[in-house]
Amino acid sequence: MGDQNTVLIKHLEDFNWQDVEVLEYKDSGSHYQSITRRVLCEGMADVPCQLRYFEIAPEGHSTLERHEHAHLVVVFRGRGQALLGNRVHEIGERDVVTIPAHNWHQFRANRGETLGFLCLVNVERDRPVLPTDEDLIRLRQDPSIAAFIRI
Ligand code: MN
Repeated sequence: MGDQNTVLIKHLEDFNWQDVEVLEYKDSGSHYQSITRRVLCEGMADVPCQLRYFEIAPEGHSTLERHEHAHLVVVFRGRGQALLGNRVHEIGERDVVTIPAHNWHQFRANRGETLGFLCLVNVERDRPVLPTDEDLIRLRQDPSIAAFIRI
């Protein structure tokens, strides 16, 4: 976790932060594509939040999932689209996206650019849930969502 009492700057160079490892997006699974994870902060005393940076290469996507915990997302690099709740949205650099509990979400780098975003979550959080067959039937009732989602 590092020393929480130390002031620390991690400098950015070519979209890599100093001393920050590039990790697998998730430990297992195949419901995502061309995406990496960096943990920028593991949380501090009265800020019990993890700050991550996810980067999706062109044509890649994050997992279609939902969960109890909320996400606060800031698009850092490029543009793409995201399913958020019951709509597909255009997203781009410096947009701020709040994803409250239980909303389906999936990010796609489908605008010919790398899509990078910062994502803040509580350190204590539940595990994401993937859609069941029934969930998928419900989601696909909207043609724009049916065309968008990747599983
Ligand atoms: Mn999520």
